[in-house]
Amino acid sequence: MSRLAAEHNAINLSQGFPDFEGHPELMKLVYGYMKKGFNQYSPMAGAIPLREAIAAKTEEEYGGIYHPDTEITVTAGATQAIFTALAAFVQEDDEVIVFEPAYDCYAPAIELCGGKTLFVPLTFPGYRIDWDQVKKLVNHRTRMIIINTPHNPSGSVMDAQDMSMLQKITSGTDILILSDEVYEHIIFDGIRHESVIRYPALAERSFVVSSFGKTYHATGWKTGYVVAPANLMAEFRKVHQFNVFAVNTPVQLGIAEFMKRKEHYRELGTFYQEKRDKFISLIRRSRFNFEPALGTYFQLLGYENMTSEKDADFAIRLTREFRIASIPVSVFYHTPQDNHMLRFCFAKKDETLEAAARILNTV
Ligand code: PMP
Repeated sequence: MSRLAAEHNAINLSQGFPDFEGHPELMKLVYGYMKKGFNQYSPMAGAIPLREAIAAKTEEEYGGIYHPDTEITVTAGATQAIFTALAAFVQEDDEVIVFEPAYDCYAPAIELCGGKTLFVPLTFPGYRIDWDQVKKLVNHRTRMIIINTPHNPSGSVMDAQDMSMLQKITSGTDILILSDEVYEHIIFDGIRHESVIRYPALAERSFVVSSFGKTYHATGWKTGYVVAPANLMAEFRKVHQFNVFAVNTPVQLGIAEFMKRKEHYRELGTFYQEKRDKFISLIRRSRFNFEPALGTYFQLLGYENMTSEKDADFAIRLTREFRIASIPVSVFYHTPQDNHMLRFCFAKKDETLEAAARILNTV
């Protein structure tokens, strides 16, 4: 969709990335480390100051204690963390439960490892987990359950009740959890982010993945991290060592120092909530229907009252004829499932959101 948007000179709200820059102080710090000569390999698990900063943040935000030496690894974005965790644990015929619509990197990675993806549809509308369905699928071959909260593409979030169901279902099994929490700080309306780290019985079987790209408005830096108990992390690192070894040193050191400004990530929810509110107030009189996203920087818009076109066809027509690009939600399902919903990224400057709304109000 980004390519089509460029071809048609369309406003691109399809792919998830900000059209504004990160904090200038962070740029200065990274450049400063380059100039000071921090340009060689970091330790395999990540620059020590960054692992220490992650340990401090994780304890302060969620009360989880992870040792920087053995339980925290810096990765080349969340994508590499997810791939590596799967490669370390999923073998031929293992089953992994994935909720869909789902971010696109889970199932291909599972299948590359020889595993089998069991898809559980989220309820519609609302995009919640139907735990009875999960219970029915769990068996001795279930190796892992992948969760994602706040959730891309739907903007839904898991609550304490979900965590308690997950705990019940996994209790007494050796099922691992891969918790994709890349939007941990982008959560709205005073809702608390239910990290699995808050729940010791879940944390002891979980890989928790985050992305500095989302938190610091720098998706192109492809830097993220994973935390997990030492026994799980030891296996993770056996794969990490040979698929990436170590991650960009000056970026890691710059982020480590910038993380001292806790207000940046603590105020990120408010920052993006203002953007969500601006976007939805501007399109309130359009013919699209929607429930405000509870987290992430994506807003779903439904168009069932407007046309019966397939979502992919409508998204392409909006790009070509109206010059606004979005992502059809059906692409986040393994088999066609078209609820006539499009995903729009609102991590954009106010003027971009205003220009987008002017178009959406005419469709
Ligand atoms: N998980 C989810 C749910 C995402 O939305 C994304 C980015 N779009 C990622 C993982 C990947 O993050 P990164 O860019 O740090 O690899």
